[in-house]
Amino acid sequence: MVSLKDPSLFRQQAYVAGEWVDAADGKTEDVTNPATGEKLGTIPVLGRDIVKQAIEAAEKAQKLWKKRTAKDRASVLMKWYDLMMENQEDLAQLMTAEQGKPINEARGEIAYGSSFLQWFAEEAKRVYGDVIPTFAADKRVIVLKEPVGVCAAITPWNFPTAMITRKAAPALAVGCSMVVKPASETPYSALAMAVLAERAGVPKGLLSIVTGDAKEIGLEMTESNIVRKLTFTGSTQVGRLLMRQCADTIKKVSLELGGNAPFIVCEDADLDAAVEGAMASKYRNTGQTCVCANRIFVHDAVYDTFAEKLAAKVAKLQVGAGTEDGVEIGPLITEKAVQKVESHIKDALEKGGRILTGGKRHEKGGTFFEPTVIVDATRDMQVFGEETFGPMAPLIRFKTDDEVLEMANDTEFGLASYFYSRDIGRIWKMAEGLESGLVGVNAGVISTEVAPFGGYKQSGNGREGSKYGMEDYLETKYVCMGGL
Ligand code: ADP
Repeated sequence: MVSLKDPSLFRQQAYVAGEWVDAADGKTEDVTNPATGEKLGTIPVLGRDIVKQAIEAAEKAQKLWKKRTAKDRASVLMKWYDLMMENQEDLAQLMTAEQGKPINEARGEIAYGSSFLQWFAEEAKRVYGDVIPTFAADKRVIVLKEPVGVCAAITPWNFPTAMITRKAAPALAVGCSMVVKPASETPYSALAMAVLAERAGVPKGLLSIVTGDAKEIGLEMTESNIVRKLTFTGSTQVGRLLMRQCADTIKKVSLELGGNAPFIVCEDADLDAAVEGAMASKYRNTGQTCVCANRIFVHDAVYDTFAEKLAAKVAKLQVGAGTEDGVEIGPLITEKAVQKVESHIKDALEKGGRILTGGKRHEKGGTFFEPTVIVDATRDMQVFGEETFGPMAPLIRFKTDDEVLEMANDTEFGLASYFYSRDIGRIWKMAEGLESGLVGVNAGVISTEVAPFGGYKQSGNGREGSKYGMEDYLETKYVCMGGL
């Protein structure tokens, strides 16, 4: 069990139309702590009819909400932000219990997640339309920006709070409503946020959190004529399926999907900074982020030195339950996740890779895994084409910029890329040449609410965060004012 200063933040019911509800048939599923395997509690497995109720309530609430002034909506979001930060410690404890990440990272995510509420509260007041010079003397051309309407969100377990606020904050800021289905591994962070949203004055029905069978809920959301937009963060495979399901009702779709980030280290790079960047990019959240470095390309001239420096640091990473002092690497989310890391390592070893450090399950058992560095990695390995989503860094050797750029872009994904060099010409060439929505130049951690986040290619569409994140929740209406 998690002990909280405010125990009322721990809810084992879904939040639908402003009420805390169970499934009509009483069906529940368990939520466990990935560090201990201990059961934390249960959540309702809602039927489609309750999800439908949530959508209908969202429609009703949105009609009133969109009529309120932007300043008024902003003040509710700002209050929600304040409450999130006042309860940062409890929210972080809850997150570490259900997700496993080290408590400091959980605290960081509460601050990062909440920052979207603050940012979009501020942005709410700056959604401007347009007056366009007319095409006829008796007419005027006006452009209005209006909320899309009822939105549905499906979110993953790796960032249980931030992946919801990044969607709900802009949606509510512009006057939309939202029904959210959090990952079944991490529902309590979402439900605690709903408690605080309620306290902040988010009207009943405007934001619902539904729990249960992902497929059934996804079908109800995507088949609904009321839902105008689906926003999803998760695997490319599920994203593809949901996009297909949205085709019949021509919903607007925003997708934040998988990545396969290249992390490139040139021979002129500040190697210590590159090692720091790689550590943060690769091992944060135990390697379970879609912007994690997946393939580390190192120039031949500095390959051995970089590998040695990285392995020395990685070997010192402390593995354990997120609540233990000094822990930097928590458990992986599930046994299946461990098996994926194992299969990537096995494949790499069969194809000539060598382990510098780590390489196997951690002696702590469960889903703990040793942070791993593999050298002599090559492009025929599984890890070259697929996201490992675990603490394993494969180091690939390169000799020229053109060669590494070609390899870096040789993937169906295009979310994040990283590039370390001190040559301004090279930096520009790479920043422009890398086919991804985010590029970190001499920086391993680049996510922030002020900048756009989103992917090229099969990493998705749409952008979250920043002024661009508002656009995903807005319709553009042209009003032709005639008869003048
Ligand atoms: P991961 O493999 O990282 O869990 P998923 O794409 O499977 O990524 O999960 C992301 C979110 O999508 C979760 O909330 C999950 O419950 C949900 N999900 C999984 N399958 C479906 C589906 N068929 N329809 C709707 N949502 C789904």
